[in-house]
Amino acid sequence: MNCQTTKEQISQLLDNELRAEELQPMFQHLSECEECRKFFLQTKDIHDSAKTLEYITAPKVIDQKFAVLGMEQQQSFLSRKFTISVPSAIYSIGAVIVLMLFIYVSGTIQEKQIAEQYRQTMSLTMPYGASSYDRN
Ligand SMILES: [Zn+2]
Repeated sequence: MNCQTTKEQISQLLDNELRAEELQPMFQHLSECEECRKFFLQTKDIHDSAKTLEYITAPKVIDQKFAVLGMEQQQSFLSRKFTISVPSAIYSIGAVIVLMLFIYVSGTIQEKQIAEQYRQTMSLTMPYGASSYDRN
């Protein structure tokens, strides 16, 4: 069992793709090889955070970038990347919500103004119609 095979199997294990009979030799190698133990812990960390981020990140492009970075084990760059991209995604969503609220509120104000104008017009031209409009 060499390091390359072990690292491939670690990835398979974290993706639940490793066969049961491959577990024993893999852990045997891990117990003897510090480099592969480190790789195992790093990959597991990346894998765990990838799982958590699946719930946050909707765009597929980010997932793919994440997967590529994960394979390259650029963990520090990875966490930096996500501290930037997740809040900016939230800000974008927040900006859209504020914009929609603004449109909704200004729409409501316009409706009120139109209703008010309508009422005034009605009271001038059709006094009885306007009074029945007010009761409703
Ligand atoms: Zn090794």
